[in-house]
Amino acid sequence: MEKTKLVIIGSGPAGYCAAIYAARANLNPWLYEGFYSGTVGGQLMTTTDVENYPGFPASVSGPDLMKLFRDQSERFGTHLLTEDVISVDLNRYPFLIKGSTTSVEAEAIIVATGATAKRLDVPGTRDGEFWQKGVTACAVCDGAMPIFRNRPLYVFGGGDTAIEEAIFLTRYASKVYIVHRRDSLRASKIMADRAKKHPKIEILWNSILEKVEGDDVVRALQLRHVGTDALTTHEAGGVFFAIGHTPNTAFLQGQIELDDKGYIKVKSGTTYTSREGVFAAGDVQDHVYRQAITAAGTGCMAALDAERWLSSKEA
Ligand SMILES: Cc1cc2nc3c(=O)[nH]c(=O)nc-3n(C[C@H](O)[C@H](O)[C@H](O)COP(=O)(O)OP(=O)(O)OC[C@H]3O[C@@H](n4cnc5c(N)ncnc54)[C@H](O)[C@@H]3O)c2cc1C
Repeated sequence: MEKTKLVIIGSGPAGYCAAIYAARANLNPWLYEGFYSGTVGGQLMTTTDVENYPGFPASVSGPDLMKLFRDQSERFGTHLLTEDVISVDLNRYPFLIKGSTTSVEAEAIIVATGATAKRLDVPGTRDGEFWQKGVTACAVCDGAMPIFRNRPLYVFGGGDTAIEEAIFLTRYASKVYIVHRRDSLRASKIMADRAKKHPKIEILWNSILEKVEGDDVVRALQLRHVGTDALTTHEAGGVFFAIGHTPNTAFLQGQIELDDKGYIKVKSGTTYTSREGVFAAGDVQDHVYRQAITAAGTGCMAALDAERWLSSKEA
């Protein structure tokens, strides 16, 4: 059986950043990048321009940024494995990590498997259609892009996140429509009231997305009224899904404490999980900030926490 000090699971900004720090601290990290579990390189591989990552004043493409993260982690000796972790056994020590083709024992683990933004699967919204050409799942990330300026934008969802994103988008849009399939919002009353009173926001009730159309970018969308089945076509400059995220924690099989939304619980201000020796970084433990820079920051914290925890064990 192969052995190492540290295994990192996940290949987004959190995982690679943890690997850079851990490799430089001689922890000989093995990093499972995933394969079928998501895109190697994480969520930024599905986007075009990243305009808010510091150090790139002229912006950088998501895939280019993640290649730089990967190269930097490799430069310091990270052992990269392009495969999924299928299971972990945290009830033995050293921990056992089973990938699709390899197995390894590790003294510490960093979980950085991210979260998957939920998307509606509707004609026009898919990869190769208008995904990232006006259809997206992150208003904070993409809202300021020129294609959305002074255009009617549509936010799909009915929770607090949908309202927050809609209010955020009013800075750029000519008007923001919140499209909800029911006749009342799931959001808290205070947020719902804020949306209803906002002069640039209109809520379209009992409606679902039927299709998205355009040329190079989104130009229009079609909605179906769930009561009458009537179809209506609307001019549109952007479609924003705000229907939640799924944290990628299934492979942990209940061995670590999760919160009520399924995110890994960490001790406040640290990356310590409920299991000693297991740390969590990035979106898998953060449903609030969900940005590349915060994911990378907690990746750094996890490597430092793991390194200090391993040293304290040896002392
Ligand atoms: C469309 C879009 C645009 C965005 N734009 C921006 C932006 O402009 N700026 C910004 O700061 N943020 C942006 N974000 C948010 C940003 O991408 C995330 O906050 C960030 O990627 C989270 O990093 P992470 O390392 O936690 O996880 P992720 O990026 O989610 O990466 C985790 C990866 O781990 C791997 N994995 C999962 N399960 C397993 C397993 N069992 N075994 C092995 N590997 C596994 C998968 O490959 C997965 O992709 C955007 C997000 C989206 C969806």
